[in-house]
Amino acid sequence: MNTRHATVIGGGIVGICCALHLQRQGFGVRLVERGEPGRAASFGNSGSFGTASCVPFALPGVLKRVPRMLLDPESPLKLRWNHVPRALPWFRRFVEASRPERVEAIAAARNSLLIQALAGYAPLIEAADAGRWVAHDGLMMTFESEAAFAAAAYALDLRRRNGVHMDILDGNEARQMEPALSPRIVRAVSLPDVSRTIDPFRLCEALAADFVRRGGEIASAEARGFAIGPEGPVRLLTDGAPIDVETVVIAAGVWSRSLAAQLGTHVPLEAERGYHVMFADPGFALRRAVVSADRSVSISHMHEGIRATGVSEIAAPDAPADMRIADRITRHARALLPDLGGEPASRWMGPRPSHPDSKPVIGRSPHHRNVFFAFGHDHLGLTMAGITGQLVAELATGRPTTVDLEPFRPDRF
Ligand SMILES: Cc1cc2nc3c(=O)[nH]c(=O)nc-3n(C[C@H](O)[C@H](O)[C@H](O)COP(=O)(O)OP(=O)(O)OC[C@H]3O[C@@H](n4cnc5c(N)ncnc54)[C@H](O)[C@@H]3O)c2cc1C
Repeated sequence: MNTRHATVIGGGIVGICCALHLQRQGFGVRLVERGEPGRAASFGNSGSFGTASCVPFALPGVLKRVPRMLLDPESPLKLRWNHVPRALPWFRRFVEASRPERVEAIAAARNSLLIQALAGYAPLIEAADAGRWVAHDGLMMTFESEAAFAAAAYALDLRRRNGVHMDILDGNEARQMEPALSPRIVRAVSLPDVSRTIDPFRLCEALAADFVRRGGEIASAEARGFAIGPEGPVRLLTDGAPIDVETVVIAAGVWSRSLAAQLGTHVPLEAERGYHVMFADPGFALRRAVVSADRSVSISHMHEGIRATGVSEIAAPDAPADMRIADRITRHARALLPDLGGEPASRWMGPRPSHPDSKPVIGRSPHHRNVFFAFGHDHLGLTMAGITGQLVAELATGRPTTVDLEPFRPDRF
């Protein structure tokens, strides 16, 4: 019998990892998910465990670049015009986060999670026997001009100063390692220590199945609000019957914003919507993940074919997808890999949950002792899910946390 009970809202990769880590600490755990676990942002990502990705998205000089990018139809940054009033405060904070001293601090904070990322996953993957969904084959960043490589110098140096191992290659060396690459590539950076999943959804599925096998419950319901007692929430109000709660974890990706607001915590969380295209039968193999710096697309050979991902479209999370954006990704993927023929087998959009300072919220609610927050992992939610779950379980059991959570406080905005 479990004497402690936790309710985790949201069955994406972050919620699933929170549920598993709490379960390992002896909690009886219920995961509340309104759809199918792993079907939102966690379904179609690029699959990288981006342990080298300490560099935040707002870098010095962003104020000059963003307006130009928003007006360029080929740019990877998009903003739905009807979303401008809501997005403006987010962009203001984004620009503030690009000051050099803040960039250094944000990179260090991101890195503090990234260096624990694989350790946070390892026990979960082993217990679920999900190792077949993980590959340790590295990542390569490509550049099509010396100017593009020079423009990346600051970000590469930030990585190096945060302990990331990188090998600098010329175009021919890159093509020896990855023969499918275009002759346009003149420079590349190999990151041999980066690993990935070959199917993010299957990984979610395997972890969620293990959670259930060990006595966890998945409740199919939409969380709508809370009944609050003297010590915090006592009941979760849903589209069905209310659910009694003891410890509550909000891990509902981009939809966490309204749930947190109902509990008195207001966060600038926006959907940075990304797209993917899948090529089921490409006729060649990629040996590692490839990220094009010039084209802002990532390409990975997944279990079911080659997946190209990209674009940050700031828009309402549930607004209809604009598949012309997916077509742009297809064009860039073909320029990078000239043998990538045929029509994509599928196209997809999912909302990255993004804060303007490129850091998640991980911590206890400032207003309710029995509530914990775990959301806003932007481009790194797959990577950071395991360690996030571990940290939430450490907080819930009152143990010292493996990572200093000060930079991730919910009330920092
Ligand atoms: C194109 C693309 C490429 C990416 N590549 C990578 C990568 O290579 N590496 C990486 O680390 N990350 C990557 N990411 C980011 C990563 O996918 C996300 O950060 C991560 O999936 C977020 O997980 P999550 O569990 O927080 O949210 P989600 O996966 O969105 O899950 C949230 C869940 O909460 C549920 N929910 C919401 N509201 C409620 C409610 N009220 N009641 C009940 N349930 C609710 C939803 O149905 C959903 O299942 C990428 C993202 C995209 C879009």
